[in-house]
Amino acid sequence: MPLHSLLDQIRGRTTPRLRPEQPPPKAPGHVASSLGLSSIGSTFSQLSQSYIGSSIKLLLLGSLIETGRRAFCWLIDRFGVRYSTTVRFTQGDPSYEWIVLFLTQENVWRRSREFVVSASNSRRKWAVRASSDATVKANAEYVPTYKTPQLFRWRGYWVEVKRSGNVGGGDVDVGPYPYPGPYGGEAGSIYITVYTLDMNVLSDLVEDARLRYLEVNRPNVVIHLSDSQNHYGPGQTWTTVKHKIRRPLSSIILPPGVIDTLVQDAQEFLNTENWYIEAGIPHRRGYLLHGPPGTGKTSTIYALAGALNLEIYSLSLASHAVDDSFLQRAASSIPKHGLLLIEDIDCAFASRDDDIYPNHGIPHLPGAHIPAPRSKVTLSGLLNVIDGVGSEEGKLFFATTNHIDRLDAALLRPGRIDRKVAYGLTTPAQAHALFLRFFPVARFPVFADPEKATGVDALAAAFAAGVPEELFSTAELQGFLQGYKTRPVEAAHGVSAWVEAELAE
Ligand code: ADP
Repeated sequence: MPLHSLLDQIRGRTTPRLRPEQPPPKAPGHVASSLGLSSIGSTFSQLSQSYIGSSIKLLLLGSLIETGRRAFCWLIDRFGVRYSTTVRFTQGDPSYEWIVLFLTQENVWRRSREFVVSASNSRRKWAVRASSDATVKANAEYVPTYKTPQLFRWRGYWVEVKRSGNVGGGDVDVGPYPYPGPYGGEAGSIYITVYTLDMNVLSDLVEDARLRYLEVNRPNVVIHLSDSQNHYGPGQTWTTVKHKIRRPLSSIILPPGVIDTLVQDAQEFLNTENWYIEAGIPHRRGYLLHGPPGTGKTSTIYALAGALNLEIYSLSLASHAVDDSFLQRAASSIPKHGLLLIEDIDCAFASRDDDIYPNHGIPHLPGAHIPAPRSKVTLSGLLNVIDGVGSEEGKLFFATTNHIDRLDAALLRPGRIDRKVAYGLTTPAQAHALFLRFFPVARFPVFADPEKATGVDALAAAFAAGVPEELFSTAELQGFLQGYKTRPVEAAHGVSAWVEAELAE
């Protein structure tokens, strides 16, 4: 059948049925007069039909948009997961320092619009120092909050940075801020997202950050302190970082050979990791420096760490917040080639005096205050940690004490303490060398001595002769010489009077 006759047929069937139901068109003038109940009803039903129809259309449209949005987000998520990798740096971990420096060097902070400001006179290299662009704002430091994620380019890749938690600290000489940051008091974290398919790019970025950190810190020794009063949160042990200018080994004045032997020993230990592995011996080495206070024990460790490029992780057992579990966590979070330093290790041991007088020598009167125990760390906890230092690779353990006699024999056995170095009060040779360190011949060639023109070497000899043998610590003599910075003649001649006054006290 031809198409047009088919259409005619359809029209013929449908039109007569439809037509009677269609209301006849009305002229506008007739509308008011023809408003009967039935027409109101039909108008209403037409209106509601069109209303429902539009609602359904809107609903469908809305659902469609929402589905599209979700599909888009899903795609973005998928895209993000596949095309990016995110890594988190947590305050308290050494790597946090690396990334803070990296972001500063990459000038990411320049695009920041929100900072936390702190007054500081620290010498840290990578603080965003206002003093670099305006003297009027000198000594102020601005820490970008990175509250809103920020994008930057690194080696041709897009990288995003954002931060959460406490903004302050982590990279400062002044320690973490004692109050919570703008986003709460929990440990701050920096998230770095690299947009690439290549996972290696992220590890390259972290390595780049680490190398830059080492480079910037070449003139410094980095010292991580465990300030247990200032925790960022659970698990945070190394809370403060200090950067000390590297001290040359030659500035430590000890009997000949002492420091060289120590440095050689530590260097050999670091170079012979494979030997330890092959021999099945834990790759660890422990040193105990003992002697009176002010004789150079801590200075030796700092100078040695500087010479061997090691970072120091230092804690004191005297802190009441340091207990066995804290010590364990702190020691196990030290990276390879970190140097664990426990100062005044005798604090962990009750002295014989303490056993006799549990209140540290104060007569125990009824109701008298009994001082708290010296340390919460137990001997077994300490030994576990020292042994555990060996379970991680390549760690050096240093301890200092003024009272070697208080230490338990279990601590001193080889494998825990492999080398003991005794420090003593100043010998004449040390006094002589100390004088020359203050007044180097190059800077003070000859003086017009009131009696006779003499070289600084002769003055050093006079100084050493005036200091009684092994009665004063090097720190005490250093304190005396500091009063005569540019006056070696007066220093050499004035020392006898000073000694007398000190002994008379
Ligand atoms: P210790 O750890 O034995 O108590 P430190 O190493 O802390 O002593 O020394 C305290 C101060 O005295 C430091 O400023 C250090 O420069 C100085 N000092 C002490 N002993 C020596 C030494 N043998 N050589 C050079 N400086 C010393």
